[in-house]
Amino acid sequence: MPIVRVALDVPLHRLFDYQLADACPADVGRRVRVPFGRGEKIGVVVATAESSEWPLAQLKTARRIEDDLPPLPPDFFQLLEFASTYYQAPLGETIMAALPAGLKRLTPPQRRSGRTQRPPTAQPRPQLTAEQAAVIDAIDIDGGFVPHLLFGVTGSGKTEVYLRLIERALALGQQTLLLVPEINLTPQLEARVRARFPEQTIVALHSELAEAARERHWLQALRGEADVVLGTRLSIFTPLPRLGLLLVDEEHDASFKQQDGMRYSARDLAIVRARQQNIPILFGSATPALESWANAENGRYRRHFLLQRANPQAQLPPVRILDTRQIKLQEGVAEPLLAAIRNRLERGEQSLVFLNRRGYAPVLACPACGWISHCQRCAANLVVHRADHCLRCHHCGFEARIPRACPTCGNQDIQAFGRGTQRLESWLQEQFPAARILRVDRDAVKSRKQWEEMLSRIHGGEADILVGTQMLAKGHDFPRLTLVGVLGADAALFAADWRAPERLFAQLMQVAGRAGRAELPGEVIVQTQYPDHPLFAALVAQDYPSFASNQLQERAQAGFPPYTFQAILRAEAPQMADALAFLQAAVTLPEAAGQDSISIYDPVPMRMARLANLERAQLLVESPSRPALQQFLPRWREALEQLRTPRQLRWHIEVDPLEC
Ligand code: ADP
Ligand code: ZN
Ligand code: ZN
Repeated sequence: MPIVRVALDVPLHRLFDYQLADACPADVGRRVRVPFGRGEKIGVVVATAESSEWPLAQLKTARRIEDDLPPLPPDFFQLLEFASTYYQAPLGETIMAALPAGLKRLTPPQRRSGRTQRPPTAQPRPQLTAEQAAVIDAIDIDGGFVPHLLFGVTGSGKTEVYLRLIERALALGQQTLLLVPEINLTPQLEARVRARFPEQTIVALHSELAEAARERHWLQALRGEADVVLGTRLSIFTPLPRLGLLLVDEEHDASFKQQDGMRYSARDLAIVRARQQNIPILFGSATPALESWANAENGRYRRHFLLQRANPQAQLPPVRILDTRQIKLQEGVAEPLLAAIRNRLERGEQSLVFLNRRGYAPVLACPACGWISHCQRCAANLVVHRADHCLRCHHCGFEARIPRACPTCGNQDIQAFGRGTQRLESWLQEQFPAARILRVDRDAVKSRKQWEEMLSRIHGGEADILVGTQMLAKGHDFPRLTLVGVLGADAALFAADWRAPERLFAQLMQVAGRAGRAELPGEVIVQTQYPDHPLFAALVAQDYPSFASNQLQERAQAGFPPYTFQAILRAEAPQMADALAFLQAAVTLPEAAGQDSISIYDPVPMRMARLANLERAQLLVESPSRPALQQFLPRWREALEQLRTPRQLRWHIEVDPLEC
């Protein structure tokens, strides 16, 4: 009796053997129903085999699921196998996680075909700028695996480059996968692509799609019917039998990194997939990840430049730095910024005030006894949310009512310290009573739908002043927006996290890029106590390359990525001692001893040591060689799996962590 190896949603690093009557290569990539434990499971056949390490008599029997789906293509498994090995994640779980929920149910839901949208009338293509034309000429769509990095300032027309490349892939009969950050996948983008290619099938894939829609789009991709898939990070695992082109927009964006379960980077996997498929891949950004920039510098990626805005009337806005040591502040806002906002109001233009801190104030405190609003479950403060009359933990969601008096000494005069977007909003409203102010942050915008409504209100001119967090920084065109003010940037300058400057610079460049996108000239005003900081000099010069080379030099000297490769082992438990003891045991395992070119650091509590009543600790593993690290990790992980741990202890390995 022939044997099949089946992927099952089980947290183990192996596949499961079953008997299957007349099993043949055509079964590979198809779903089967198998007995498992006391019940049944749906799995996917990954391979057929002649023999098993288990006695044949012990192998249970799988049953085929009869449907009209094509089998999952081999490259789908290739990518998932790579991901599971590279990120130390269980293979079966990894494979099954890539399938839509409906395909994994023992009693599958009724499948309905969706509405087919009427094709819009084709929009004319703009004449390419000279820079765009040069980029497109330099990219060979049919020449096998070549990684390209498109460095294009905000508004330089990167999207038009994507559209032209898609056009070429379509002409070759190929599918394109365009990955975008979570927040950028809006119907506007979809509509823009649809309008360019009205005859083609364009589908979106993201986590907020209704289950049925997600399954339908996924199946369109698998059947080769979808010509273009627009998706967020999870769509990197979409089966695409005709895939010919991979595009990653805003490739530096943190949302390409999955932060739980298998902690993968969709951007990095995109490169792997392009190499496996032998197809070109293009990364686009105005502020590339330093890893990508380094890869362009060392010649691994081909670099292309768009240094001018596509619309010749839309100039990059000048950036002005306000030294707040010299200027009196009112509620954290300097008079020149206030004057600039007033000026925009008089002209009927929009302003955006960027403050990357939501809530009313970051903490409530009692000046008499020193009490502060601390989360009982986390090593963090409760943030004051006036709008909801509560104190809220931004890490675990814990909520409490705002007390009238100090809980320890009874003092009635407790105060909210510092400023968040809500406080800024209400203060600005007092300054400009007639202005229409719109706050845009995670509290005001909780779902994709609300985000879309918010965007259309802004576009519809329903706001004079926008107060917002980084949500507002991402690639959206607001034609009447001519002023961007930045508050509270200094906190990130001296953060313990050495990636903070990279993130801050990207954020500031993005948010600055919102000003002056159309005919009206824009201006950016940044308040800081450190006007001489090199980061601001690079911002004023709008000079990402010099910022990047500075940062890369510092990283090379300090021995940080991309000049070293890292993995983190994290443990969490109700008691810190248990978490640390587990990590200490991990260090002393024989598998961890005397490894050439692997450094294992001491276990330490995490920067935020307590989250939702769990104590968290971690240790860093480093190597100058990625292959060495990759050789080390599986053996170490297997040894870790044998360790006996306290019942409530959880641990995981993260490869290429973004936060450490
Ligand atoms: P980016 O993604 O680089 O920030 P976009 O692709 O959004 O820039 O383009 C910025 C603006 O320039 C958009 O309004 C777009 O329609 C316009 N645009 C892009 N390419 C051209 C072109 N070749 N000619 C005229 N306008 C263009
Ligand atoms: Zn008190
Ligand atoms: Zn908390």
